[in-house]
Amino acid sequence: MLRRSNALRVLVGAATTLLRYADPDPPSASASKRLKDTVEESLEKEGKALGRVACYPHRCLTRPVLPVSEAAVRSPLFMSRLMDMSQLATNLHCISFSAPKAHWDAAVILIKNNPYERDFEVWVNPSVPGYDDRDAVAPMYGMWENCISCGSTTAWVVRPQRITCRGLDQHGNEKIEVLDGMRARCLMHEMDHLMGKTIFHQTMGPEFVVSTVAMGQRNLWPANFPSAEAYVTLSQQFFDYVTNTTIIPPGMEWWYAQNMAQEFHSERLGS
Ligand SMILES: [Zn+2]
Repeated sequence: MLRRSNALRVLVGAATTLLRYADPDPPSASASKRLKDTVEESLEKEGKALGRVACYPHRCLTRPVLPVSEAAVRSPLFMSRLMDMSQLATNLHCISFSAPKAHWDAAVILIKNNPYERDFEVWVNPSVPGYDDRDAVAPMYGMWENCISCGSTTAWVVRPQRITCRGLDQHGNEKIEVLDGMRARCLMHEMDHLMGKTIFHQTMGPEFVVSTVAMGQRNLWPANFPSAEAYVTLSQQFFDYVTNTTIIPPGMEWWYAQNMAQEFHSERLGS
């Protein structure tokens, strides 16, 4: 989930930084050509990668996957598929990914804390105790989530702020960790895919699903649509149900400063 919405802008920004440090002279014609080639190459890679992604309601995304045996995790075939999936997620600029999206029937998840991290964190057979207990009293965040497998849609999803996850790493070693911020959000989003669920299942109702275009046209939304908290929460923000305020997701501060500064407004529900 959480693809960068404007790969071109990010790429241009990255290349500009690179040019600034590598070459103090004004950008030359050859530098512009290099930048153009880099952007075109990335877009071509992304286009090809998109063709390999399963889209809801493909059967890969509507049924639970198989757990991976410990012997399988240590096999060369598993490592090869894992590397392939990691490359696919990288080419798509995703900060999290799960095997069903790559047509792989396996309980495997990749997550990053933020888009600047180079490598993905791997979870095999992840489980979160009490995850399905929807009546649990736990601090929650709301967020407009998108998904590479769910087309141009964005859905309001409320999830626990912090979870404890148990599973295996890419070498088959057991691990238990407490996750919060974007890591927790991404892990839960991808865990849903392992269970054959998507943001459409986890959202609160049909009116909480909007197009990505509509997310950029909030000035046209009726006040407090589809709910007061969803209305005040921008893309890439959390709504904290404990403090009743919007916040930058922990782990995303630096990314936010680079990409969303102009769109960020700290908003608070009516006092
Ligand atoms: Zn997804």
